[in-house]
Amino acid sequence: MTLPDTTSSGLRTHLIDASVDRPGDDPIFALNAEAKQRAAAGEDVLNATIGALMGDDGRLAVMPSVFEAFGKVSAERAAAYAPIAGEPRFLAAVKRDLFGESALVEQAVAVATPGGTGAVHHGIVNVLEPGQKLLTTSYYWGPYQILAEHTRRGVETFRMFNEHGRLDMSSLERELARQVSEQGRVLLVLNTPCHNPTGYSLDEREWSALVSILMAHASEAPITLLLDLAYARFGASGSVSWVPFVEELAGEVLVMAAWTVSKSFAQYGARVGALVAVDPDPAERHRLQNALSYSCRGTWSNCNHLGMLAITELLADPVLRAKSDVERDELRKLLGQRVAEFNAEARKVGLPHPRYEGGFFVTVFTPDAELTARTMRASGVFVVPLQGGVRVALCSTPTRDIPRLVEALDRGVRAARG
Ligand code: PLP
Repeated sequence: MTLPDTTSSGLRTHLIDASVDRPGDDPIFALNAEAKQRAAAGEDVLNATIGALMGDDGRLAVMPSVFEAFGKVSAERAAAYAPIAGEPRFLAAVKRDLFGESALVEQAVAVATPGGTGAVHHGIVNVLEPGQKLLTTSYYWGPYQILAEHTRRGVETFRMFNEHGRLDMSSLERELARQVSEQGRVLLVLNTPCHNPTGYSLDEREWSALVSILMAHASEAPITLLLDLAYARFGASGSVSWVPFVEELAGEVLVMAAWTVSKSFAQYGARVGALVAVDPDPAERHRLQNALSYSCRGTWSNCNHLGMLAITELLADPVLRAKSDVERDELRKLLGQRVAEFNAEARKVGLPHPRYEGGFFVTVFTPDAELTARTMRASGVFVVPLQGGVRVALCSTPTRDIPRLVEALDRGVRAARG
């Protein structure tokens, strides 16, 4: 049997136009593959592309308490389907983990999702119409674009940094106001603390300005703030708490939080996460809960039950929880040493980068990211080129390699400056 030409470009394919030319591989995974190949061939490779926390021995950091919790789940419970929206005990524990003693716990609904990725997906499809665009920072995690396009939405950005290297509130307000008038609704996605890819965390002044901007426009259109908290547990100690700001917003702006264990419990593979939505109005909460549960049924149906039950044990059992806090503190300490070392080395050579207090990544600004990354690769140092900078994964760079990393970055940036 021969297929007739089925696409506008005259290809013989079963795929629809939108699917016919998808990029097959995530560019970061492709770089990672080259780094591994060269290392296997005997080269001394420094691979700062991997977005997972690795020990200084180059092995994935894991938390033993998580596996202890897995061991506490009976086969019979783990093998059964999870409820569509997620285990009620899990969802209650997630809300408590997010909001602590705040009254927000009582004003929140939640569903289980496969990691933060699933949570962002559900946010997009429930508060934007097809054809509409989410709003985020000009540097952003690439999958936002994929999640938006795959669900027939899109992405627009505001300039992330002003000339003082702080979050550009004027650009944010301008773009938000434009979206209010052009599309009559806004989904603002902010990844803080420890933004991927820049490492930036909003401080108290920025949170306060953000709340003022959102409140100023909240009566004009439905505005949703989706907080992507993927790296929340790796913020600098003593950094600002966002909970009081969300308390101010509740009821005016829909606040959603994408919660995930991927980084906070060093458990990327179990795919445990949640989308939490806050509204003081019980009728709106009821609608939100139904809408989000419906999206679960219409996508993955229900999530990994073993992972969800194990993480519930961890969050709810004070002994196990304390153990996991100690283990995580060790990982934070390791990352904190790398951040301090990077900042010190970068200062010596004047590397341009945003304020960086903690987190898996930092971005180094360069006028030609491809050239910078290529120059670095020539000496066996791998980073990810982005528009306007290269992303450096301190999370996977052994502390002893940071001077070499910074030296290669410096050479790469100089090459791009010509
Ligand atoms: N958001 C950001 C900014 C991320 O970097 C990641 C993972 O890399 C995620 C969300 C979601 O990760 P997961 O789906 O594993 O929770």
